[in-house]
Amino acid sequence: MINVTKSYLGDIDKFKAYVDRIYESHWLTNHGPLCCELEERLKDYLGVRHLILTNNGTLALQVAYRALGLSGSAVTTPFSFVATSSSLHWEGIRPVFADIDPHTWNIDPEQIPASLQPDTSAIVATHVFGNPCAVERIEAIARQYRLKVVYDGAHAFAVKQAGQSVFNWGDASTLSFHATKLFHTIEGGAIVTNDDDVAARVRKLCNFGITDVDKIEGLGTNAKLNEFCAAMGLSVLDDIDNILERRAEMGHYYTQRLGGYLDLQRQADDSQINYSYFPVALQNEAQVLAMRTALQADGINPRRYFYPSLDTLDYLQPQAVQYQSRSLSDRVLCLPIYPGLARATQDQVIDTLLRGHELHYPQPVAWAAAV
Ligand SMILES: *Cc1c(COP(=O)(O)O)cnc(C)c1O
Repeated sequence: MINVTKSYLGDIDKFKAYVDRIYESHWLTNHGPLCCELEERLKDYLGVRHLILTNNGTLALQVAYRALGLSGSAVTTPFSFVATSSSLHWEGIRPVFADIDPHTWNIDPEQIPASLQPDTSAIVATHVFGNPCAVERIEAIARQYRLKVVYDGAHAFAVKQAGQSVFNWGDASTLSFHATKLFHTIEGGAIVTNDDDVAARVRKLCNFGITDVDKIEGLGTNAKLNEFCAAMGLSVLDDIDNILERRAEMGHYYTQRLGGYLDLQRQADDSQINYSYFPVALQNEAQVLAMRTALQADGINPRRYFYPSLDTLDYLQPQAVQYQSRSLSDRVLCLPIYPGLARATQDQVIDTLLRGHELHYPQPVAWAAAV
């Protein structure tokens, strides 16, 4: 089966060289030398002030909420991976949805004020599929209503807005380095912030609240990354420019061949995206299911990211119906995109989608145009 992504495994000898260093140091976890090196290199590569590694992207969100002192409720997007909302709920913060923009597929800033509650403490927004949110508008709203802003940047590795890392917006941004993500450490994640105090609190929270030998300063959890995961991260990071280039080539090819026929996500102005996913929106759910079946028959497995819309989850009720998010969730399909994917497979996906599209929307015949 050809899936939407294939975890990147670089050269095994390069990975072994990093692992050899673990066998020499005998240091397996707890902020070891490879984790420190990875943090430094990621900070450099992304162009951010503080980056603290975590053991996954979900705990990165939970720790970020704690470090910023969120409470009550948070306005968030219904169109994201479930962890964006479930992490809030897990922390005792009630997610209240604001609908998405039907073009960018990110939270629509103009819908945020109507979703505010007396106890709203934050906006939690996702840069969906690595497309930057309307960061300036969100910042203005947050300032007006005195809210914190957390960006779930799980898809936004290396994404830029106005020439700099998109992680430089908001009080904190979180990343996921899960095996299915563009940059990965098998399991892992990170919290990025420009605020020195927030960074210090994050470090403490990730390590049980322990600040020194014999010293525990408050509640914490275990969100530490281990050295073997850091070794994988370092070897993937060695190849990251090539990974981004290959993805961009594939993304451009899909765009060029499908753009005139299918709804694609509208990219934020002045942004540089990473092609971590290639989502298309079809006309309706029946078409999505038909296309998925047709592609699966050819051994290709597209995914319905993100389905269902999070405002339908039982444990988050009651919620207002989020029409744009539900409509998109019903129609979206993510196509395979990863380094090593054959051009012939891309063509096969494109041809299947275009055939299906033509079935529903026949091209005007020549004589009709002449009349
Ligand atoms: C993958 C993902 C997460 C969760 O990250 P894990 O590392 O799997 O815990 C959170 N939010 C979004 C948008 C994601 O895609």
